[in-house]
Amino acid sequence: MQRIVVLAGGVGGARFLRGLTSAAPEAEITVIGNTGDDIHLYGLKVCPDLDTVMYTLGGGINEEQGWGRAEETFSVREELAAYGVGPGWFGLGDRDFATHIVRTQMIGAGYPLSAVTEALCQRWRPGVRLLPMTDDRVETHVLIDTADLDEEPAGEGGGGRRAIHFQEYWVRLRASVPAHAVVPVGADTAKPAPGVLDAIAEADTVLFPPSNPVVSVGTILSVPGVREAIAEAGVPVVGLSPIVGDAPVHGMADRMLAAVGVETTAAAVAQHYGSGLLDGWLVDSVDEGSVADVEAAGIRCRAVPLMMRDPETTAAMARAALELAEEVRA
Ligand code: GDP
Ligand code: CA
Repeated sequence: MQRIVVLAGGVGGARFLRGLTSAAPEAEITVIGNTGDDIHLYGLKVCPDLDTVMYTLGGGINEEQGWGRAEETFSVREELAAYGVGPGWFGLGDRDFATHIVRTQMIGAGYPLSAVTEALCQRWRPGVRLLPMTDDRVETHVLIDTADLDEEPAGEGGGGRRAIHFQEYWVRLRASVPAHAVVPVGADTAKPAPGVLDAIAEADTVLFPPSNPVVSVGTILSVPGVREAIAEAGVPVVGLSPIVGDAPVHGMADRMLAAVGVETTAAAVAQHYGSGLLDGWLVDSVDEGSVADVEAAGIRCRAVPLMMRDPETTAAMARAALELAEEVRA
């Protein structure tokens, strides 16, 4: 049986995983999920990327949106707002709240996030083993100019910089202001969650889905030991570009790439991961012209359709990634 490890963020990772589970129904798939997006709200621990994977594979996702629960209502948020309690910019629905209440209760009772995630997955049965990258608290922060925070005029001298939580940057500010740096706070002392390093060591193939290379895959790789384990596993590592035609497919990943000094092109993202980590890279057919550049950087590259329009197209992407892995292995 083929063992596949996937480093996943939220929407891009989850949609790809749905294609992978249908393309490789017999494979044993372990997903190492990004927890750098986690945020504490109303005393609750919210894990947006883990939940997006869990809901998507478990059949509970809001399909159009790509995150959050299907058939959601927002009574709790309205009631909180009536008390003047925010933040109003982070939309948690009533059904979603239940997940965060259960998670927070279990963490309060002493369970690590990995055990909590396993318990939540007993309801959702995602068909993969979902592991948080770490049980330790890691929260991605983004460094911006203080002057760009509307509630805080720069004042005398101005020109300062401030780190804000990734969700505040992404959701409240919609990444509308430049980011100067992305810092996974807490990552330097975090340990990979139980099972993470073993899954990598036992994997036949490692895949990077078309997730955000900086704040999803990059954050997972920032947990000490994970990057090294992948590089040393000696198995094919194949990624799929989230950048198509020099732009992110959805969202504002270009802002995050700019913050780490990487161009928004499929080839630049491959080189950012580097040939020390990546053996194979898929770019979209429209980026066929960049295949030679990627190969010149020592990474085997193919151009195939990479838009996850429907389950069939997405499964074909997963098959292409597995085929490239076999080519690399041969
Ligand atoms: P997030 O945590 O919800 O932001 O999700 P991920 O990090 O897993 O994925 C976000 C990335 O997915 C974005 O950078 C998008 O460019 C990429 N993405 C979304 N849909 C598609 C698609 O259909 N094809 C490709 N190639 N990339 C996609
Ligand atoms: Ca995310």
